[in-house]
Amino acid sequence: MPIRILPPEVSSQIAAGEVVERPASVVKELVENALDAGAKSVSVSVATAGRTLVQVADDGVGIPADELTLAIERHATSKLACAEDLFRIATLGFRGEALASIGSVSRMTITSRRADAPAGARLRVEGGIIGKLEKIGAPVGTVVSVEDLFYNVPARLKFLKQDATERRAIDALLTRYALAYPDVRFKLSEGNSPSLHTTGDGDRRAILAALYGVEVARQMLDVLADEEGFKLTGFISPTALTRSNRKEITFFVNGRWVQDTPLTSALLQAYHTLLMVGRYPLAALFIEVPPEEVDVNVHPAKAEVRFRSPDKAFSFVQRATRRALLTYTPVPQVMPSTLWGAPSRSVDPAWSLGHAESVDLGNPPSAISGPEVEGNPQSTISNLQSQISNIPLLRLIGQIGATYLVAEGPDGLYLIDQHAAHERVLFEKLMAQHGKKNIPAQALLNPVMVDLSRASAEMLVTQIPVLQHLGFDVEPFGTNAYQVRAVPSLFAKSDPAAALRALVEDFEEDEAPLLNEIEAKIAGRVCKRLAVKAGQVLSADEQRALLADLETCASPRTCPHGRPTMIHLSVDMLERQFGRKGAR
Ligand code: ADP
Ligand code: MG
Repeated sequence: MPIRILPPEVSSQIAAGEVVERPASVVKELVENALDAGAKSVSVSVATAGRTLVQVADDGVGIPADELTLAIERHATSKLACAEDLFRIATLGFRGEALASIGSVSRMTITSRRADAPAGARLRVEGGIIGKLEKIGAPVGTVVSVEDLFYNVPARLKFLKQDATERRAIDALLTRYALAYPDVRFKLSEGNSPSLHTTGDGDRRAILAALYGVEVARQMLDVLADEEGFKLTGFISPTALTRSNRKEITFFVNGRWVQDTPLTSALLQAYHTLLMVGRYPLAALFIEVPPEEVDVNVHPAKAEVRFRSPDKAFSFVQRATRRALLTYTPVPQVMPSTLWGAPSRSVDPAWSLGHAESVDLGNPPSAISGPEVEGNPQSTISNLQSQISNIPLLRLIGQIGATYLVAEGPDGLYLIDQHAAHERVLFEKLMAQHGKKNIPAQALLNPVMVDLSRASAEMLVTQIPVLQHLGFDVEPFGTNAYQVRAVPSLFAKSDPAAALRALVEDFEEDEAPLLNEIEAKIAGRVCKRLAVKAGQVLSADEQRALLADLETCASPRTCPHGRPTMIHLSVDMLERQFGRKGAR
């Protein structure tokens, strides 16, 4: 084929591909335009999760009628005059690309009126073809309606996820913008009742609840720091409140939601040694720096920024969040050992801070630094897992650090991680009952109310039948709240609210929630949450019961997530270490 300049329809579709990926990207661009226009109120309505309609109405300055046609051209912007401006951008937009892009892949109508204009104007664009400008009565501000997104790019339509997923993306986006702009009133609705509605009264903590649920929002810690023109505000979770992934970490830089930022590592450093391995904090942090300190022109959807002095930004965030963490001494989570039917002593807070996952034996000889099986130190955790071998009968010696059990077997000493072991025990019992299609359920005398974030609540609702299979009786109960009425008998004495939260907290954003999940995965999650924790003092009877249960497990040597439940120090190894045997 000879080289040709692409026709404008094609090049604009290519450009649109960078900016408009899904309904949530349309919402993002339109909301950013509204904020740039100084709106105090931004109202978003969608239909069919944004596929058939995204409409954003604002009360901002509006677009002059004689500029409306220009506004939808590519590279048309009122926010940038010359190249130098690029390095001191104070608006969210500057590329002049959003309206042109959206207009090329949908049927878009813009209605706008300036405060000083007697009337408004309306313009329609269909698949990039611009219609005639009409004069029309309209309130001050701008309304952009985007209908039938990707109607002319069927290939793109195929990439859209299920409605629930697209809806969640819109919801997550708007909730975060609401949090970043607490002085602006935000509304999101699909159909008649709004799913998000903020007052614009500047109170961020009230909006936090929409993002994380009431209970979590209540526990979040305030962050406030101001140094050499760098300002940080927002919230981070106390060390006892964590997630299994980084998805609940949100950063805004100069009013812009940025993803994949090195600032996330700065935050994680602040939590260093305070969290268990594989756990992440929740955070919503807003950093303001002088515009010339960031380059915002590094990503087509403006989802990344580059700092002029990355180290300064990094250490600022790291220090500010660490300080916040240490200022609020974490309240120890006292977990009565209800699972075991006996009250436990209150737990030393140090134990809730992450000693559970690593076995620290000072400077251990390599032979005992990993699980060892039947004299084969090379065995890896994964082949341990596949190896269906029972453990020998163990004689309990006691508990150390309220975290590990010590036991003697015919072939040496065993250290058992009580949490991992209990997780294994619960999991096998539950799966055995499940295999027999008979999970006894225990009705709760007093049904328990659990409130969840809107996103979690929406995910859960589709899963009620799966939960019933597993012995949970759960019912929606008011807005974003659920009532737990029965739990598997196995968990009868545990906290039903914790069980339910365990079910929803770790869902991947993009996976069809639970729908395609295997029940075993869910069961694993619940067992993990409800197993006895590291730091819980167990009575001798409880310790013995745990060992006995573990001995009956099919795969006693690992927890359902593959971590070892025990470390074996063989007689042979002990003899070598003490120089009783082998070369000195
Ligand atoms: P950019 O935001 O990068 O400038 P857009 O394509 O999003 O590019 O918008 C083009 C121009 O249209 C903006 O520069 C602005 O002048 C005008 N505009 C768009 N949306 C609005 C709005 N909601 N209120 C006022 N002006 C708007
Ligand atoms: Mg814009």
